[in-house]
Amino acid sequence: MRPMMAALLALVIAACGSMTPREAFVPGPAIPLVTFVFDDGFDTDYLVARDLFAEQGAVACSAIATDLIGRPGFLDPVQIRGLRDAGWEIMGHTASHRNLRSLSPAQVEDELSRSKTILEGMGVTVKNLVYPYNKNNEMIRSIARKYYRSARGGVDKFNRDVLEQYDLRSVSNKKFGLAKMRDRVDQAYAERDWLIIHGHQIDVKITLTSETGSFIAKEQLVFSPSGARGTHLRDQWFLSAGYLHYLPLEGTPLPGDRVTGSSSGTVAVVGKVVYNQRAEISELLAYVRTKYPDMRIVTVDTALDLLGIPDTTAVLGEKPTQ
Ligand SMILES: [Zn+2]
Repeated sequence: MRPMMAALLALVIAACGSMTPREAFVPGPAIPLVTFVFDDGFDTDYLVARDLFAEQGAVACSAIATDLIGRPGFLDPVQIRGLRDAGWEIMGHTASHRNLRSLSPAQVEDELSRSKTILEGMGVTVKNLVYPYNKNNEMIRSIARKYYRSARGGVDKFNRDVLEQYDLRSVSNKKFGLAKMRDRVDQAYAERDWLIIHGHQIDVKITLTSETGSFIAKEQLVFSPSGARGTHLRDQWFLSAGYLHYLPLEGTPLPGDRVTGSSSGTVAVVGKVVYNQRAEISELLAYVRTKYPDMRIVTVDTALDLLGIPDTTAVLGEKPTQ
């Protein structure tokens, strides 16, 4: 049995030796870092999140799929430059938002370079990438390396010990909710990790009772007496029955509030708040600030600087800004 064991071991060693190593850097000084990235380029990055972060003296990142720019509910070029001016990082997120693993190398190259060129043509600098659906492989990572300083791919994990520069890990804010996100922050702080939290559109969902009619898509909603305000987002009927889904522009709705639609005149009473992403993000930022004053809330690019990762990013389409 022994020679067979030895042969098996030799085979395993040979297999490991032939694997192409992934880009890996050991972080330098152990600074606890947290980064927030909003994927896809929803206009709530500008309309909601920008103010929430500014209130805490912090910034975040917006990862933009360029085919979505200017579509209803998504950022337009003026808002993208507005985020840049507020100190946010604009990240690449391809053009079409297709799963890159389903594409040929030429198509991946086109997705990664064209989207960067489009954004840089708007006058923003783009150094880091988010893979759509976090999907990547060796071929995709090698193309990403040509155009970007880093790329995010992994889910439900922290960046610790060895940094996978082209497969950065993150956790989803929507999946966990506030209590669990606080736990993630506690853990990242204790272990001196770099925690990347990613989200999408910032929205609120509440249950309604005593509706006098139907709310209309995009109408303004005013909540009283809480003073909350927002814009109605219409879902498919089977998702919206008994619920109100809206984009939160101001304040926090409370059970018992009367909500009025400014165009439809519909009035209803708030039952319970199913989730409120605006409040959760705001509370999580405040939690980091008060509990861990030395934990830095930074963009991906600043985190890479702090971790001593070299910046060799090519600029493709940058023009002098307006
Ligand atoms: Zn996405």
